[in-house]
Amino acid sequence: MDFDDYQKKAITTDLFNKSDNKELFSIAFLEKLLGITGEAGELADKIKKILRDKEGVLNEEDKKEITKELGDILWYVSAVAYYLDVPFHQIAEDNLQKLLSRKDRGVLNGQGDNR
Ligand SMILES: [Mg+2]
Repeated sequence: MDFDDYQKKAITTDLFNKSDNKELFSIAFLEKLLGITGEAGELADKIKKILRDKEGVLNEEDKKEITKELGDILWYVSAVAYYLDVPFHQIAEDNLQKLLSRKDRGVLNGQGDNR
């Protein structure tokens, strides 16, 4: 499945309707932004509990649960891109291009979004 195919199918499960939410900062859009942080928090909490309760040792069930949270994050990232009218593949391509450029220039380490 490619990124844009995922995005088209995933957005069909959106509880809101983009066409009813024309403003960028609509409840529907903000719900997606908050969804990314909420799901990232769920992921961090699962990792925290593995560190706290299991001395950081992962089992297959842990990996399955972590994978589910990564999927939830993916859904929200895809939805934010959809609301911004950005094809999902563009997010992936731009990010990869940025990182490969940093690697080529030897600036993967360091600070600043635009290095
Ligand atoms: Mg979740």
